[in-house]
Amino acid sequence: MNTTPSDLPSISEEPVSVEPKGADDSAKGASPLLTPTIDPWSFHSGMKDLFPGGEVGQQTEIARGLEALHIPDLKIVSSPGLLDFYSRDQADVPEFLRDMLFESVPDAVLQPFAVEAIPPVLRYATKRRIPIVVRGAGSSPFGGSMPVTGGIVLDMNALDCVLRFDSAQRTVKVQAGMRWADLDWFLEQHGLCVPCTPSSRFSTVGGWVATGGIGIASISAGHLSRSVLELEVIDCEGVLRKLTPRDRDFKSLFGSEGQLAVIASVTLQAKAKPASPAPRLTLFPDHASALNYSIGLASAAQRPMDLTYFSPAKFDALNRILGKDYFPVAHGVLSCYESEEDPSMKNAPPLPKQARPAHQYLAHLLWNERFFPMKFRKLGPGLMGAEVLAPRAHLVDIVAKAEKVCSSHDIEPMIEIHFLEGGDGMLLCYYITDQARQLKYTMDSFRGLLITSALLDAGARPYSFGVWNHTFSDHADPEEQEERARAKRYLDPGSIMNQGKSPRLRGRWGGVPATLFSPGILGSALKLVNRFGFVAAEAVKLVSSSNAFDRQDKEDILLRTADECAMCGACIGVCPAYLATKDERVTARGKLLTARQMQNGGKVTKEHARRTFLCLRCKACEQVCQSKLSLIPVYDELERRLTEVYGKNEEEIKLFVEQVENSPAYDALVDRGLVLGAASKSLEGGK
Ligand SMILES: Cc1cc2nc3c(=O)[nH]c(=O)nc-3n(C[C@H](O)[C@H](O)[C@H](O)COP(=O)(O)OP(=O)(O)OC[C@H]3O[C@@H](n4cnc5c(N)ncnc54)[C@H](O)[C@@H]3O)c2cc1C
Ligand code: SF4
Ligand code: SF4
Repeated sequence: MNTTPSDLPSISEEPVSVEPKGADDSAKGASPLLTPTIDPWSFHSGMKDLFPGGEVGQQTEIARGLEALHIPDLKIVSSPGLLDFYSRDQADVPEFLRDMLFESVPDAVLQPFAVEAIPPVLRYATKRRIPIVVRGAGSSPFGGSMPVTGGIVLDMNALDCVLRFDSAQRTVKVQAGMRWADLDWFLEQHGLCVPCTPSSRFSTVGGWVATGGIGIASISAGHLSRSVLELEVIDCEGVLRKLTPRDRDFKSLFGSEGQLAVIASVTLQAKAKPASPAPRLTLFPDHASALNYSIGLASAAQRPMDLTYFSPAKFDALNRILGKDYFPVAHGVLSCYESEEDPSMKNAPPLPKQARPAHQYLAHLLWNERFFPMKFRKLGPGLMGAEVLAPRAHLVDIVAKAEKVCSSHDIEPMIEIHFLEGGDGMLLCYYITDQARQLKYTMDSFRGLLITSALLDAGARPYSFGVWNHTFSDHADPEEQEERARAKRYLDPGSIMNQGKSPRLRGRWGGVPATLFSPGILGSALKLVNRFGFVAAEAVKLVSSSNAFDRQDKEDILLRTADECAMCGACIGVCPAYLATKDERVTARGKLLTARQMQNGGKVTKEHARRTFLCLRCKACEQVCQSKLSLIPVYDELERRLTEVYGKNEEEIKLFVEQVENSPAYDALVDRGLVLGAASKSLEGGK
């Protein structure tokens, strides 16, 4: 990322007041700018307790302290089972490792339903030096939203409204908890779209600002920061600051991973929605010719809307998932144009001799798969990998290195590169693992680190750090780091924002085990292991082949499905029961986490079970599921097991289903074609 000239002011000179109405800890007067104007769901009953009497949890001191402030529009979650859901994100690491290193269950989860609820929380935390971890959809694979030293998790999901829309200027201002898919759906009704999105369209707008910013259509739109006109952030003193590209700290917020401030709103420049995207798939015999052709396309004055490279193993895995050899197993370049008439298609460089175009049908099939990069985990079940930024100058070497290291571990790497203008790319290198085979799974996590280390040695840079890439923090861009440290001194002088991640990882026992993850210790060890490539790879293989710690219950429908689940959260934003309650226990991911809690001997309380039953059997979750899971039979079995222990209140469920079915949010899901099942069926046991 470029830095902004130093003569620009560091932070907006005009902080805006966003004080809550009525909180003890506050002044008066909410900013009218932050009043939601367009609520795509119009159904925020999630603030209210679901059942009379509410839910009694083991309240922590922090939760009690916050309760005493009576902050309006703030929900405080203190149920132990639900708090546990917030101890992880999408990261696929063995749970025993996470639990050994970190005290990752938060003391309290706070769900603001109005932005005015955030400042008093930040002031409360700053005064008492309580860590604040901001969380969007929890879809990042690096542990960025994991509370490594406990504290408060600020769940942004209820702040999901459009604040302002200007159709003439094509600008849209949204709350940070809005999901990309919902924003795109809103814009589509005005013939517009966002210029670029992550493949995880279910992640939040604020979450992608705080992390990567490279994804679909990045080759035409550039890094996300190019499409953002303004950010509103709340600093640790509860002051709302407006940052535009002219402000020096604007860039630092991108990729800040929740360590600077709470991103409250994002104003984006939208563009006209392409009428009918025209994808082309070209096949190459080797990665060098495919990548050189891609770099040529990426450097042309007129570029495609999107450009992605796929390795042969990706096509092989796709064929296995589709049950037929549709795709030739070759190196593929998928270029997608705005339409068949797009002038950049006509002006594209000629195909080299060794390249051949694939059938149009395959190009469309692959383009339609772009939002499902995790489908393959079903083949394990489990998926692991490395993600890096690959500069154009080293791209061919980096891919050669990925192939070499993976082959020494008998891994067929599924490589995917999302290109940026000029030919730099975001490279994903995935491989299948098996979560039920504990030793193999643990060794496969280690392989992910070995691969990342090798790619960085070949000239790549880390894409994100979070927790699990902390080992590579010595590869961060020094200029970016300096700018961010400067911004932190202004925005978070008390260092409460995502405490314990940077510059030093903290965790259990004073953070001593976590220091093993430091660049000096694990980073050096990985380099050493890679240097003794063959011997080390054989040793890792030997350990992986042992079935000493294999799970005996791996055919259990609940556990197998939980292993197949990517824990990505795609099912959450479309679940009508969640839209009504903002309680993850009602969602597919929540139910699968509940199944895991039961397996691990964790106590699932009656109140937890009661909420797990709240399901419409509408199948919206199945429609968007990244792993394409068949979820309804899993819910039936989970409910059967919970009913055996706690019974089931059919009347309560019926009332809930009726209420949700009559909500505008449910109608919106029907309009979007997401609801397939009939709610009444749930009352007959999901038949
Ligand atoms: C299937 C799949 C596809 C993906 N595709 C892409 C892709 O194409 N490109 C890409 O870059 N990533 C991708 N990702 C990774 C991930 O989805 C992105 O990083 C994502 O945008 C994170 O958003 P989130 O809302 O899930 O944030 P979370 O995972 O909840 O949080 C991520 C980090 O951002 C911080 N954060 C979140 N919200 C805020 C806020 N409002 N204010 C301040 N800090 C905040 C958190 O503290 C944390 O450090 C993919 C993930 C999956 C599972
Ligand atoms: S079936 Fe519908 S209500 Fe039930 S978990 Fe799936 S999306 Fe939610
Ligand atoms: S059930 Fe599917 S959509 Fe939901 S978290 Fe799991 S993989 Fe993702």
